[in-house]
Amino acid sequence: MKPPRFDYYDPRTLQEALEILDAHQGDGKVLAGGQSLMPLLNMRLARPKVVVDINRIQALSYIRPMESGVAIGANARQRALQQENLIAERLPLLREAAYYIAHPQIRSRGTICGSLAHADPAAELPALAMALDAELVATGLRGARTIPSDSFFLSFFTTDLQPNEILTEVRFPAPPKDMAWSILEVSRRHGDFALVGIVAGLAVDQERQAVTDARLIYFGVGPTPIRVKQAERALIGQRPAEAAWDAAARVAGQGIDPSNDIHATEEYRRAVAATLTKRALRAALGKLKDLNASTGSA
Ligand SMILES: Cc1cc2nc3c(=O)[nH]c(=O)nc-3n(C[C@H](O)[C@H](O)[C@H](O)COP(=O)(O)OP(=O)(O)OC[C@H]3O[C@@H](n4cnc5c(N)ncnc54)[C@H](O)[C@@H]3O)c2cc1C
Repeated sequence: MKPPRFDYYDPRTLQEALEILDAHQGDGKVLAGGQSLMPLLNMRLARPKVVVDINRIQALSYIRPMESGVAIGANARQRALQQENLIAERLPLLREAAYYIAHPQIRSRGTICGSLAHADPAAELPALAMALDAELVATGLRGARTIPSDSFFLSFFTTDLQPNEILTEVRFPAPPKDMAWSILEVSRRHGDFALVGIVAGLAVDQERQAVTDARLIYFGVGPTPIRVKQAERALIGQRPAEAAWDAAARVAGQGIDPSNDIHATEEYRRAVAATLTKRALRAALGKLKDLNASTGSA
């Protein structure tokens, strides 16, 4: 299959890229890793007049420390999540999650920001961004604006980005030190998009043996990643044990909105979401125990 005709630009500066996009309001597409855009072009599901390749803009190739957490530029590849010490030290959940994103070949080209801008509801990075309260920096000719992740993802493959803006950076703050995290998903084969996935965070008061904080974000079960606050609330104050995980799994089912499609039925996705909720919370509790054992608390 071949793409429709388009004009191709590969600017060296962000300013130049923004000017090209601005001149083609709505008819331009950014090319980052190309791992989603190229198939879309080849299948003629996207028909932009211009493609603006940002790969030569060196200034966007970085992963750098922030006061807390990391800032990731638009040209940083997904494989960096597995290779950068900074990620391993400050955001080990991102490193763990990278294993689920497609295959090594795709991660070596696909960008972190590209996945966020593409906003596939079954993708891992949008759910991680929501779980960790990431901020997204959208830059246009008139300047940059910072968008919280919970208002960035609007619907299937739709974000708050304007056609003349580039997602130049994502900022992941380091999560609270007393929280442990896990990510799990079920897909047909390893490397496929998730049929259902979850990112779970858990904090427990060791003395009182009670859950003090929880995060439950699901992907593949609605138009965007879905944070189910009712299920989080169901955990607070509970003893960190099976009864609490069961309750959270039950409540979570009311907060997600899975569809029937060629890959799975709604019922199947609901059942998997419930099972993954329990497994993810068990896994997070296991990590908390390891964390406490290594710091000598409780
Ligand atoms: C076989 C296969 C399996 C895959 N499996 C998974 C998976 O399991 N999980 C997963 O998360 N992903 C998966 N992917 C997708 C992969 O992660 C993509 O790399 C990612 O979704 C898009 O990143 P990209 O850098 O390649 O973006 P591109 O393909 O270049 O762009 C995708 C879209 O985002 C826009 N865009 C990209 N960057 C920017 C930017 N900085 N600013 C504004 N707009 C931008 C583009 O214009 C385009 O519309 C898979 C891909 C393939 C081919």
